[in-house]
Amino acid sequence: MDDDLSIFCCQNLDCPDYGKRDHGNLSVCARYGKHRRRLLYCKSCQARFSERKGTPLFDSRLPPDKVVSLLAHIAEGVGVRSTARLVGVTKDTVARYGLLAGDHAAALHDELVAFSPQDHGGAVR
Ligand SMILES: [Zn+2]
Repeated sequence: MDDDLSIFCCQNLDCPDYGKRDHGNLSVCARYGKHRRRLLYCKSCQARFSERKGTPLFDSRLPPDKVVSLLAHIAEGVGVRSTARLVGVTKDTVARYGLLAGDHAAALHDELVAFSPQDHGGAVR
């Protein structure tokens, strides 16, 4: 099983390693749900949290396929206005996800596609 945790970071505000991606402090301690989502463990503060909490998908009101599409456009360097028009969301939404995803947009996109094989008719891992 290939667990690439480099796009995740600890979500505990009080953790010395909060927000540090690819820092080596996270490991997978469990899997849950029908998509076998990972429960991550931070050895710096002993916190456990869902992998989704560290991604733009978490707590999102957008359907996952829109998030994936949106991130794909951001990763390709498509401008905010064009992305909003192409994906069918507001510019504010694009800006918000763009900020969240940052340089990790491409990696997040790949990860999100892998999260949701049933929504895309493929991408089985
Ligand atoms: Zn931590």
